Amino acid sequence: MKRREFIKGGLLLGAAGLGGALSLGALRPAAALPPTGAASGARRWGLVIDLDKYNQSADREKIAALCHRRHNVPDIPDTKTEIKWIWEDDFAHSFAEMESPYLSDRIKEMRFPVLCNHCAEPACVKVCPTQATFQRPDGIVNMDYHRCIGCRFCMAGCPFGARSFNFFDPRPYIAEIDPLYPTRTGGVVEKCTFCVERLTAGLPPYCVEAAAGAIIFGDLSDPASEARRALASGFAIRRKAELGTEPSVYYLLGGGGGDA
Ligand code: SF4
Ligand code: SF4
Repeated sequence: MKRREFIKGGLLLGAAGLGGALSLGALRPAAALPPTGAASGARRWGLVIDLDKYNQSADREKIAALCHRRHNVPDIPDTKTEIKWIWEDDFAHSFAEMESPYLSDRIKEMRFPVLCNHCAEPACVKVCPTQATFQRPDGIVNMDYHRCIGCRFCMAGCPFGARSFNFFDPRPYIAEIDPLYPTRTGGVVEKCTFCVERLTAGLPPYCVEAAAGAIIFGDLSDPASEARRALASGFAIRRKAELGTEPSVYYLLGGGGGDA
């Protein structure tokens, strides 16, 4: 009941126009990001994962490890209660709707990094009763942990399994807490944020930094951005695109990276 009363107070603050200040994204707006060259000035951040580079040359273990370490994601061994922001899966699980009995061995053996897709039409935002999950003007779907009441409607709404629930206090499962990033508590949902705290400083997300060219971050609304040039260089697919959530994470096959 105490938590509910606290949330109720937060909702009143929100109604008074103060609640938004509780979110990390709202506290640190993305004003420091470099200009993109898009004519309208509007951004829609997205990721392009160059699968050839990712599977051939990226240090794949480093990618999730860096993300999780810098965001205080706990290492919980039980798959029923684990917390994940970015992880790997195979084609059958990542793109089940595209399964084929004659899939090439090359595709079967590939690994696919999966994470929140920061959908342009996010199902999770629509079902969240407290606006703890919200969409920023630049397309990033972010979370205000203080407003989350743990109802898990967002987990039911997300078709990608991109969200994790803290069944208990996660802090004992963090080997070394990074003081620069908040920890979460039991009863709260979490997920990838596209590293909004890094974007504020004009830096790319950690996964992009660790992937050494295999993951490209950019403004999907800008045809001149590196992400859009990469998309134009090959054939790109998205997870469950047929559901209409408009994922902002693309998987590039046979592309030339951002050099096209
Ligand atoms: S992938 Fe799931 S959690 Fe992420 S924005 Fe889309 S619906 Fe929401
Ligand atoms: S569990 Fe999900 S839907 Fe429920 S309040 Fe938290 S973010 Fe919103």
